[in-house]
Amino acid sequence: MIPSAVLDRAAGALLGAACGDALGVPYEFAPRLAQGRIPEMIGGGLGPYEPGEYSDDTQMAVCIAEALRDHDDPRSPQALERTARGFLNWFHGGASDVGVQTARILEDTDRSLTERGGDAAEVMTGRSDRMFEVGERCAGNGSLMRTAPLALAHLNDPQGLARSAARYSHLTHGDPLAAQACVLWCEAVRHAIAHGTYDGVRGGLDLLPSSVRGEWAARLDEAEKEPPTTFAPNGFVVSALQAAWSAIVHAPGDESSPDRYAAPVMAAVRVGDDTDTVAAIAGALVGARWGRSAIPAAYLEVVHGWPGYRAEGLGGLAEVILLRHTRQAD
Ligand SMILES: [Mg+2]
Repeated sequence: MIPSAVLDRAAGALLGAACGDALGVPYEFAPRLAQGRIPEMIGGGLGPYEPGEYSDDTQMAVCIAEALRDHDDPRSPQALERTARGFLNWFHGGASDVGVQTARILEDTDRSLTERGGDAAEVMTGRSDRMFEVGERCAGNGSLMRTAPLALAHLNDPQGLARSAARYSHLTHGDPLAAQACVLWCEAVRHAIAHGTYDGVRGGLDLLPSSVRGEWAARLDEAEKEPPTTFAPNGFVVSALQAAWSAIVHAPGDESSPDRYAAPVMAAVRVGDDTDTVAAIAGALVGARWGRSAIPAAYLEVVHGWPGYRAEGLGGLAEVILLRHTRQAD
C-alpha cells in the first residue's frame, strides 16, 4: 500500500514539471524578468503556445511516461523502442518547437529508418554516439528536461534508476555529462517522492562514476553559493541543472509556505534564457518535494498540452506508473 502523501508527490513530479514549463514558455529567450515581476502562464513563446500550454519539455516527458505506463521493465528493448517511436511521432505530429540537438538526432534517425529500417531506439542511440565521437556539441539540456518520469518507475531502486536515466538520456544526447545530470536529478526526484526532502540532490552523487563525483559536488556548491541568475545562459546541461538547483536553494519555502511550489519555480523562470526548460527541471523536483497539493489551483486549472493532457490526466499518469512499477518492485 503506497501512502497517499507519496502518491501526491508522484503526481507533483509530473505536474510540477508541466506547470514550470508552461510558466516559463512566455519568457523563453526573451529579456530576463525583473526580480519583482510575477511570471504568468500567458502563452506565446516559441510555439507560439496557448495560455497554460506546456512545451517540448513536457511533451517529450509524456513520451517516456506513456512507455513506462505500458511496460514493466523501463530498460527493455520494448520500452525504449516505444519511447523512441514516441519521440518520432511527436516530432512529426505534435512538436511546436524542438531543441537543436534533439531535432538533429530525430531527423538523422528518421532518414536512417527510411533508408535502412531497423530499431528506432538503436538507431537513435547510435546517432547520438556518433555526434559525441566526432566532437560535436551534444551536452544540451534536452534530455534533462524530460527525465523526471523515470523516477516514478524506480521508487525503491536508485541503482536501477541511475541506469535508466543514463539510457534514456543517451537516446538523443551522447555526451556523458547529459547522462550524469539526468542520474543526479532523477535521484533527487525519486528521493523527494519517497521521503519528501531535497536530500537526494547530494545523495545522487553516489550514483555517479567516482571519477566525476567531485566535479558534480563542486557544481552543486556553486549553485548553492551563487545567485540563480549566475546560471544563464543555460542551454548547456550543467548550467541548466545549476540554474534549477540555485533557484530552489534560494527560494526553498517550507511546509507552511503557501508558495512553496510557486516561489522556487518563479525564481527558475527569472533566471532567464531557456526559462521553460529550467522551470520544468526545477518544477519536477519542487513538485516531487511538496506534492500536487502544493501547486496553485490556478496553474492546475489551465495547464495542458500535447497529446491532449490536462492536470488530471498527467497526475493520473504519474500515479499509474508509480503503482505499476512499485508493485513490481515490492
Ligand atoms: Mg520548451
